Amino acid sequence: MTAGRKIALVTFGCAKNLVDSEVMAGYLAQAGYRFVETTEAADIVLLNTCGFLRAAKDEADEAIRGALALKAADPARRVIVAGCYTERHRPELEALFPRVDAWIGVKDLDHIVDVVEGRDYRPSGRTFLYSHRSPRAVSTPASWVYVKVSEGCSHRCAFCSIPLIKGEYRSREPGSIVEEVRAFVARGVREIDLVSQDTTSYGKDEGRPDGLVRLLQKLIDIPALAWARILYGYPEEITDGLLEILREPKIAAYLDIPFQHSDPVIVRRMRRAMPGRRALKLLDRIRKAVPGVAIRTSLIVGYPGEGRKEFAGLKEFVREARFDHLGVFTYSREEGTPAYDDGDPVAEAVKRRRRDAILEIQSGISAEALRAWKGRTADVLIEGPWKEDPKLLIGRTRFQAPEVDGVVFVESAGRTQKDAPAVRKIEITSTGVYDLHGKPAS
Ligand code: SF4
Repeated sequence: MTAGRKIALVTFGCAKNLVDSEVMAGYLAQAGYRFVETTEAADIVLLNTCGFLRAAKDEADEAIRGALALKAADPARRVIVAGCYTERHRPELEALFPRVDAWIGVKDLDHIVDVVEGRDYRPSGRTFLYSHRSPRAVSTPASWVYVKVSEGCSHRCAFCSIPLIKGEYRSREPGSIVEEVRAFVARGVREIDLVSQDTTSYGKDEGRPDGLVRLLQKLIDIPALAWARILYGYPEEITDGLLEILREPKIAAYLDIPFQHSDPVIVRRMRRAMPGRRALKLLDRIRKAVPGVAIRTSLIVGYPGEGRKEFAGLKEFVREARFDHLGVFTYSREEGTPAYDDGDPVAEAVKRRRRDAILEIQSGISAEALRAWKGRTADVLIEGPWKEDPKLLIGRTRFQAPEVDGVVFVESAGRTQKDAPAVRKIEITSTGVYDLHGKPAS
């Protein structure tokens, strides 16, 4: 099997999966493989799947069928299926898709070249966790990058399949993370987005309860870094030390804390510990400690036991909490999770109506919060020209995370991206429900 062959690498799911894809791409590029945009143009189709929810698995099934249809047209084409879906359901998938050439889950991603070339390797039996020495072909814009700080999760939320897929929480070595960030900043990256299943528990598995704060202190010392952001927090892990360091200008005053629900009974059934009343107190504590902090959360609607009263309570929680950013998922019953035996009593149509009702409330809250920015100046990290209208640049403020929050559309004023700093002072000229518009501040 010769190197130089063309690979289409398709990534599904979360930011952590994207990092895994970039590392696999790094190893394959080192072996001389070239990457193409479309599966049609590829000799090898590598699908890095998500197996977290039914919807993600359906999406992966469709992509596998699409790749196998291309293989039917050209039997020399190889189809490789990687990631969480494979890790969780390999025996069933091998039976369902016997013509897939090779499978690799979330372990041994450093053997991806062996897998692509059909060679055996000695499995490690552990979820793969890269280091600063791992090759990585970054796919995000030049000004920012995701950095994964750990793998796995030691919480046991009743609805969640992640511990089944990724195993127990394992932190990366702090020096390796700092080395990786230094190298990225030296290459022009100005925003670092720290990701994992629970970034706020970083270091605890190794007896370093303040591991995240100590890591952030080291990142602050990197001169050209504009800001580092914490994504995927856990409510009970918000310490005073963390709130203190969030006041540092080089740490984005931003917290992503999934609360999942507010109703005490539902939260208990989810095997989580922070119902709405306590969550509102936590939000109050955070906002007092970190003025101007942006808070993102995720909620699940349609959980077993969520009736009209519980849902009305959730709506009230969203009105009171006034999150800056909010994602809503409809409950997905997942085999193997503790909640599976509770069934799935809420109809899908009801779940969707509830999701839309929460988003309706949130859109009003978001629009009102953004209106306060009109006429003010913000630091904006420029990602590059907007594909839809290259006369506009696209960027984000400290309070807008990549890929999930709104953006800032910036009049480029004729300055090309090449000679402009990544972070610019932008005067906000108009505001929308989720996005802002602005021009370079005079
Ligand atoms: S903390 Fe997140 S990843 Fe961990 S079990 Fe709970 S929902 Fe899943």
